[in-house]
Amino acid sequence: MQTVNSLKEMQVLVQKIRAQDKRIALVPTMGFLHTGHLSLMHEGKRRGDVLVTSIFVNPTQFGAGEDFEEYPRDMERDQKMAHEAGVDVIFAPPAAEMYPSGYQTYVTVERVTQGLCGISRPDHFKGVTTVVCKLFNIVTPHVAIFGEKDFQQLVAIRQMVADLNLAVEVVGMPIYREEDGLAMSSRNKYLTPPERKAALAIIHALRRASELFGDGERRAGEIITEAKTIIEAEPLAQIDYVKICDTKTLHDTKQIKAEAVLAVAVNIGKTRLIDNCVLDPLTMRVS
Ligand code: AMP
Repeated sequence: MQTVNSLKEMQVLVQKIRAQDKRIALVPTMGFLHTGHLSLMHEGKRRGDVLVTSIFVNPTQFGAGEDFEEYPRDMERDQKMAHEAGVDVIFAPPAAEMYPSGYQTYVTVERVTQGLCGISRPDHFKGVTTVVCKLFNIVTPHVAIFGEKDFQQLVAIRQMVADLNLAVEVVGMPIYREEDGLAMSSRNKYLTPPERKAALAIIHALRRASELFGDGERRAGEIITEAKTIIEAEPLAQIDYVKICDTKTLHDTKQIKAEAVLAVAVNIGKTRLIDNCVLDPLTMRVS
């Protein structure tokens, strides 16, 4: 495994790989890797000949007052984990190379980024789609793997790829959870022991919602109310949103007739956590 920091070096390397007719798989991350990231890497390994993972805490996707400075970083540990997962190349560019002074170009996906996290984080997705577009241009992957944990991000990236005719196959992977159900996230590191316990209100709410859906409830409002009640009972939890949306448009759903996503964002103390589950009325699948 090699670690590449320079954009130029990365571009030369992928040109060589492409000249050998090899498939490049990319897993973009912000580092501080956990098993959820590794599940994406295993999929990337399966789908490509050369697996590249980017580790870049992208400043443009953090708003003012958000946790860009505190975001956990540990390159040595990440290198070890990535190596064990079979990553061939870590791409870890310096922010000054990604956004040199005078930088002024952004990619904005309009409608699907408006609701959910777009309300409390208005410039977040613009930063995400911009950096992912740049990574696609630099690494030129055939396939890129993302987690369904960041459901709205995945929808926005699919939209960008379709709208801009990018020649990248986008693959979404299921949410990887801790044994007790908490969705894995680099931000879980911020949680104090009482907060870590309080965060379980999220999975309890999702489970209750899935149960209602499994019992045939299709009124989104009823499911949302029960999910909210569970989270509100936890004093350390502050709801940002609990919504049920169409999985393609991300418009609010009233009656679940097509595949929908129950998406939640909750502040536990100072830590903002997101989670979701997909409710599919055709297959009754809950994931
Ligand atoms: P991040 O480093 O948090 O930006 O995440 C990098 C990628 O890993 C994104 O595509 C995330 O959706 C994905 N990811 C993060 N947490 C999980 C998880 N618990 N399960 C599956 N994928 C995840």
